[in-house]
Amino acid sequence: MADCLFCRIIAGEIPSNKVYEDEKVLAFHDIDKKAPVHVLIIPKKHIESVAALEAADSETVAHIFNVARQLAEELGLKDGFRIVTNTGKSAGQSVNHMHFHLLGGREFGWPPG
Ligand code: AMP
Ligand code: ZN
Repeated sequence: MADCLFCRIIAGEIPSNKVYEDEKVLAFHDIDKKAPVHVLIIPKKHIESVAALEAADSETVAHIFNVARQLAEELGLKDGFRIVTNTGKSAGQSVNHMHFHLLGGREFGWPPG
């Protein structure tokens, strides 16, 4: 998707501060972090959002969670972390390429805003 910000990051057309990459996923630091650790984990395949997932994407989503667990450990989030996926306009999704925010390093409130 030529006009998708995260597809352009995957293609290397826009720089990112990478923390993990393999053939299926990319993880990089959020440019406007909301916690001491704020990493975005994205599939390399362009999937608009959780609402656009297909059954065939199940393995990729499971892999993303495994990467999240691994990164949480590597980044020292031993007291806990939060994984957030805003889906759609009312939930605050601003980039229409599915992404998982991995947040940690501070206390989080509940319910979320
Ligand atoms: P959301 O608002 O849930 O769709 O999340 C999109 C996230 O992408 C926000 O937290 C932004 O700060 C982040 N973001 C936008 N542009 C970039 C970029 N060029 N590099 C890294 N993160 C970005
Ligand atoms: Zn995309």
